Amino acid sequence: MTGVVLNNVVKRFGEVQVIHGVDLEIDDGEFCVFVGPSGCGKSTLLRMVAGLEETTEGTILIGERDVTRMDPSERGVAMVFQTYALYPHMTVAENMGFGLKMTGHPKDTINSKVAEASRILKLDPYLDRRPKALSGGQRQRVAIGRAIVRGPEVFLFDEPLSNLDAELRVEMRVEIARLHREIGATMIYVTHDQTEAMTLANKIVVLRSGRIEQVGKPMELYSDPDNKFVGGFIGSPA
Ligand code: ADP
Ligand code: MG
Repeated sequence: MTGVVLNNVVKRFGEVQVIHGVDLEIDDGEFCVFVGPSGCGKSTLLRMVAGLEETTEGTILIGERDVTRMDPSERGVAMVFQTYALYPHMTVAENMGFGLKMTGHPKDTINSKVAEASRILKLDPYLDRRPKALSGGQRQRVAIGRAIVRGPEVFLFDEPLSNLDAELRVEMRVEIARLHREIGATMIYVTHDQTEAMTLANKIVVLRSGRIEQVGKPMELYSDPDNKFVGGFIGSPA
């Protein structure tokens, strides 16, 4: 079981508290979307799950493991960011395999994992290209491919499509939904796009000023928001 559990998670930056005791259970294989206004703490929560940001108080479990004080590389997570920092001098295949190479995996393993990821993401024709010869959508696919080859138990996405134009966003949204169906891993996905949240999520978490305002299935929040704030984010006014 590789669900994710947050128990009374608190984050302070110095004196300033930005996450105020978040309790959340994300089931194994679930697609959980965090929404909420800019600055409400979506990225901070995600980065605490990834281990990129220290958790001030509370605990984070991945599966049965308490990862709260664990190194990011030991948590079994892979994160995809809004800006997809690819290495310009490396090919698509090299970019995807780089993490495994650095951690000393044999060439055969790297090749088969890269082949698998490129099949899932339809990147086969581009494996020998360098990033500058790719479109924005293809670059973001490579960034997702980099996460896939690591075989994480949990995928973390921080607004991965925000830099793409509207048409590409739709295309990539479909790709990410397919990826989730195909790999079945637990995914936590931050977005401010209501359509992305409604179409991708099994569970939506609405955050407001570092607290959970409401959690539910997309249609539950849509048809029965607890308040106007949630309705404003999910679509139908309360
Ligand atoms: P979101 O992703 O929802 O836009 P963030 O998680 O980035 O929000 O930020 C939540 C709050 O924490 C904001 O008030 C932000 O200014 C603050 N914050 C984020 N990172 C830092 C940091 N490294 N130091 C101080 N404050 C930070
Ligand atoms: Mg953010």
